[in-house]
Parts: sequence; C-alpha cells; structure tokens
Amino acid sequence: MAVTDDRRGCEGCGRTLPVDDLHSVTMPDGYTAVCCPECREYAETAAEKQAELDQRRRACDGCGSEYRIESLSEVTLSDGTSVLCCGDCERHVPGRGGADAGDDRTSDARDGSAREEGETADADADGDTAVVRHDCDQCRESFSVELYQVETVDGRTQTFCPDCKDEGLDDGVVKSVRMRRSEAYATLAVDGDADEEAIRDAYLKKVKQVHPDRAEGSQAAFKRVKRAYDRLTD
Ligand SMILES: [Zn+2]
Ligand SMILES: [Zn+2]
Ligand SMILES: [Zn+2]
Repeated sequence: MAVTDDRRGCEGCGRTLPVDDLHSVTMPDGYTAVCCPECREYAETAAEKQAELDQRRRACDGCGSEYRIESLSEVTLSDGTSVLCCGDCERHVPGRGGADAGDDRTSDARDGSAREEGETADADADGDTAVVRHDCDQCRESFSVELYQVETVDGRTQTFCPDCKDEGLDDGVVKSVRMRRSEAYATLAVDGDADEEAIRDAYLKKVKQVHPDRAEGSQAAFKRVKRAYDRLTD
C-alpha cells in the first residue's frame, strides 16, 4: 500500500479527498478551484455558462453600446465593409432599405434561415427577450439586452442598465440586484424557451444535486439555484 497521504479538501463541498481524485477548474475570472469529480462537473458547467454570457457581449459598431452578440446583426455597408449593429442602428445604416434591401434579403434568406428561426422562437417564448427594447429607469436609454431589476435603498423596484446598476451599487443607491432571467436559465441549465414544466424539472434536479446536506452540495449553490427558480417563476 504505497499510497501517498496527500489529501486535500474540495473547494465545492469541503470533502477531503486524495489529491489524485481532485481536479482544477479555471473559473472565468481566472480563479482556479480544486474540486472533487462531482463538484468539478458543476463548476465546469457554471464556468462555461458564465464564460458564454461574458464572451457574447460586444459593442455595436454604430452606437458603441454593449449588447449580447446574438442581438447584433452583421450588416454589409455599400462600400463592402461588414459591421455588427444593434437593431436600432441596423435600421439606420446607409445603403440598407430601398432597392438594396431586396438583394440582401434574398441571400440572407438562404444563409441565415436557421438563426432567424431561433430568434423568432425566442421572441415567442414570453416576449422578454433581446428583440424587445428595455428602458433603463435611471438614464432613460433604451436597450435591447436584458436589464437588471434592482431594489433601491428607498425600497423601490426599478429597471437599470448594466452601467447604472454598477454605478448604483457603487453609490449605495442600489440595495440589491435580482438575478437576470438569462443568468437564471443558465443556472438551471435550461434553454431560454423552456416551459414551466421544464424549468420545474430542472430546478428539482439541480436543487437535489446542490443541497447543502449532500456531500457535493453547498449553501451558496443551493441559494443560487433557488434564486434562479424564483426568478423564472414569479
Ligand atoms: Zn466536492
Ligand atoms: Zn447600436
Ligand atoms: Zn441606465
């Protein structure tokens, strides 16, 4: 029995395991967590989802505001350059509309049909998607990304854009920030168009996995799953 006595705690569940059974998981913020196989799976899924959410943001070439990449459209200008634009800017791009639009549509219809179907399905789900414009209660600007529901120190519930949310937290105007629906879907690992039953099934499955009474569970993960479910069912 030449087993080395090298044991370490899992950063997810706290169980002490032989180092050989533990895995390193690099989180999107660069932190490397050491996890048991069960927690590793959970951490990796969470890291992937988070990385996806982060990566998918990009500034619109027109107005410069940041959007989720799927709400931006590639637009070819009359001089042949390709730009990524938000819905608003796309409508105002020179060279679109009129006679040109006819030609563009024909080629788009073939290449982009899969993507367009996806977008349509999203929009039908509950209307609370990227296609819909959301107004920030603070700066009054309109955004095509999901905004944050925040509770202010004086007890009001408001809709804030990411910038105003960050500023509000810094200034102490914002007391708490609700999980965004997009994050909630990612936490429960369900698609954005999941119905009530699918969300409930995913919640029941997840909540069992991460329950603090279980070896692979944790208080933080449990709370997060509950918050996600609350967010999607209220
Ligand atoms: Zn663990
Ligand atoms: Zn724009
Ligand atoms: Zn704002």
